Amino acid sequence: MPTTPEKMTKYEKIEQFVKGFKLSSLTYKRVMHLLNDEMNNGLHESMNYHADIKMFPTFVRALPDGTEKGKFLALDLGGTNFRVLIVRIDQRDVDIQSQTYLIPQRIMLGTGIQLFDHIADCICRFIRDHDLKDETIPLGFTFSFPCRQEGLAKARLSKWTKGFRCEGVVNEDICFLLHEAMKRKNTTTVDVEVVAVVNDAVGTLMSAAHTDRNCEIGLILGTGCNACYMESLKNVGLWEGDYEEPAQVLINTEWGAFGDNGCLDFIRTEYDRELDTYSINPGKQLYEKMISGMYMGEIVRLTLERLSMEGLLFESADRDCELFHRGRFFTKFVSEIESDHDEFFRNTKQVLDEIGVTNYTTEDCNIVKYICTLVSARAAFLASAGLATLINRMNKPEMTIAVDGSLYRFHPRFHNLMVLKIQELIKKGLKFKLALSHDGSGKGAALVAAVAMRLRDNKQGECST
Ligand code: ADP
Ligand code: MG
Repeated sequence: MPTTPEKMTKYEKIEQFVKGFKLSSLTYKRVMHLLNDEMNNGLHESMNYHADIKMFPTFVRALPDGTEKGKFLALDLGGTNFRVLIVRIDQRDVDIQSQTYLIPQRIMLGTGIQLFDHIADCICRFIRDHDLKDETIPLGFTFSFPCRQEGLAKARLSKWTKGFRCEGVVNEDICFLLHEAMKRKNTTTVDVEVVAVVNDAVGTLMSAAHTDRNCEIGLILGTGCNACYMESLKNVGLWEGDYEEPAQVLINTEWGAFGDNGCLDFIRTEYDRELDTYSINPGKQLYEKMISGMYMGEIVRLTLERLSMEGLLFESADRDCELFHRGRFFTKFVSEIESDHDEFFRNTKQVLDEIGVTNYTTEDCNIVKYICTLVSARAAFLASAGLATLINRMNKPEMTIAVDGSLYRFHPRFHNLMVLKIQELIKKGLKFKLALSHDGSGKGAALVAAVAMRLRDNKQGECST
């Protein structure tokens, strides 16, 4: 006989409000099927226009083979800070010096000219401070916004995200804009040539592939969630380049947009829907919104808020605290709370104090931690379903996945949860490894530049013999 609401214990009642976060393996497999279909649509030349997952070919055709050499500049733009790096590569040895520059809010919301003038200023300052002169230095640009690439060094911005909204850049080639800005600086000491534009997922993969030949997938679990992987040209209907060897290309999936056509509605909870409604891009990036660092804290907050309204949590707490305000519960709190391993709940109490919740009980702490574990596990499992889809598609006996982003780096359980779930979802016999990639955006961009130069030199060598 089903339990009537009056007879339910508090924990049974809580379960009614959170059961949507617990998905079965069968459900994750259904998600994988859907993702695979959506990726095929994205790769198809006539379906791409309507596809949510854009599967942008990056024009990166080869991974580093360890023979790369030289001195490269790299830029990393795609968050709050902007970095310039000088990367010296001598086969397996990599030496990096970098400098972080602030991008003021007025520039993030100004014109494209102002943004690229600011970037050029920072590059010139960096060149001066590092005493670089009288040479041409190839530059790799990590530009982590969705771009449609027309060549390795030609990328048109599709849309701004992450707080940037500079006028006159959408649909423009960002390399051209950077070169023009450098010309305006009229710097005499160094000639900078942009030889590659990549996003952070690609940089992450390149950086790890330099020391691990099995690495063919890059994953970002930071502010956003995205992945790239190596695909055979024969599967890329969209491809308009040549078919010379190597007949493969890295695909920047931009899979954060998975579900935007409603195909993931069967797993979205009331909390996911509310988060989306109040976001700056309703109906967009629905898969990303269930996974990444920009949103996870808010999903937890909405759940805690609901339980509190139902009288199941914080019964004697002040209803006017931060917990009841949008965006005030950060994803780093989820990591901190889940790092509590005893009945003292030191971190949990610190977080609750910080967000102004008063008069909480130990049982409240227990429930808060439980909600965090449910939301983070679903995120880790959904990301795992994405990776398992790629691993099964590529069907290689051994595969390393390079991962970067603060969520993966700092959450205490993300790595382990992912390893277990991927194991469960991939075809029997396939082996994989998740490896933290170090400085993907910097070293990775320099390596793309290095590979481009190596291939260019090889070509020139072939022509002259
Ligand atoms: P980006 O993706 O912009 O390059 P990061 O990789 O640093 O930057 O990711 C930033 C995201 O990581 C933010 O959304 C933030 O909420 C989340 N984050 C920061 N610290 C932690 C942490 N300790 N645990 C989990 N998530 C975190
Ligand atoms: Mg980053």
